[in-house]
Formats: sequence, structure tokens, C-alpha cells
Amino acid sequence: MTTYQFIGGCHCENIQFEMDLTREANTYTPRACDCDFCLKHGASYLSDAQGKLVITIKHESDVNKYQQGNKLADFLICKNCGVLVGVTSVIDGKRYATINSKAITNNSEFGLEKRASPKKLDAQTKTERWADIWFPNTVIKILSE
Ligand SMILES: [Zn+2]
Repeated sequence: MTTYQFIGGCHCENIQFEMDLTREANTYTPRACDCDFCLKHGASYLSDAQGKLVITIKHESDVNKYQQGNKLADFLICKNCGVLVGVTSVIDGKRYATINSKAITNNSEFGLEKRASPKKLDAQTKTERWADIWFPNTVIKILSE
């Protein structure tokens, strides 16, 4: 299977990621979440349930794992440079994640953002949806605490 590799991360490179996508970049439409938190960041999310994601954190103590709303997921924000890199959640013992498309290097190849409104979903429906569409088996490598 052909895969399309992308890299990205926060501005100071404390949080970096590599992702393998299974389709051409322009077929992905990043989801612009309309909750108050994501609007303030201008975040829009991209993931591939058939793809692969590895996140590498240089110093974990410089990462803020912010929780909001139902507190089901961790928003990974660099404490040093303030960039929101992505969101991760452990569902039924497996780690899923999605990436803020704004943190991807060369993100102009992707399709246009589409508005998404997960805040209207209840907690159960939300986690089921994440397990369907986020990167499964996400690896988070922590190089130092
Ligand atoms: Zn940073």
C-alpha cells in the first residue's frame, strides 16, 4: 500500500510527529471544531484510521496536557512555544490521536477545512467516533521527563 508521509510539530520542536497517510493529501478535509477552545486556537484536525502516527516529545515537563469539556482527551500543547499539536485519548486500552492540521509542515496540500461540531455529541458517542476516525495505536515517545 502506498503511504504518504508528513511531519510536523510545535514551533520550538519540543513536540514533533511523523504520520503516514493512506490517501493523497488533497482528499483530506481537516475538521475545524467549533468548540470555544478549538476556535481560540483556529485548530482543525486531521487523522486517518488506516494511517500511522508517532509523536516524539523531547521534554515531557514542557508539555501541557490540557483537558476541557468532558475531560475525555488530552490536548497536547507545548508550554514553551504555545502551539496546540493534537489531541489524544485512551479508549478501551488503546491510544488514539488526531493532529492539528496547522502543526503539519507543508499543510497547504490538504483539502479545505470543514466545520465539525463534536460538542453536540454525548461522551459515549464522542469516544466511539474518535475510535472510528482518529489514528489508532498512536505511539508517544518521550525522550526525557
Ligand atoms: Zn514548542
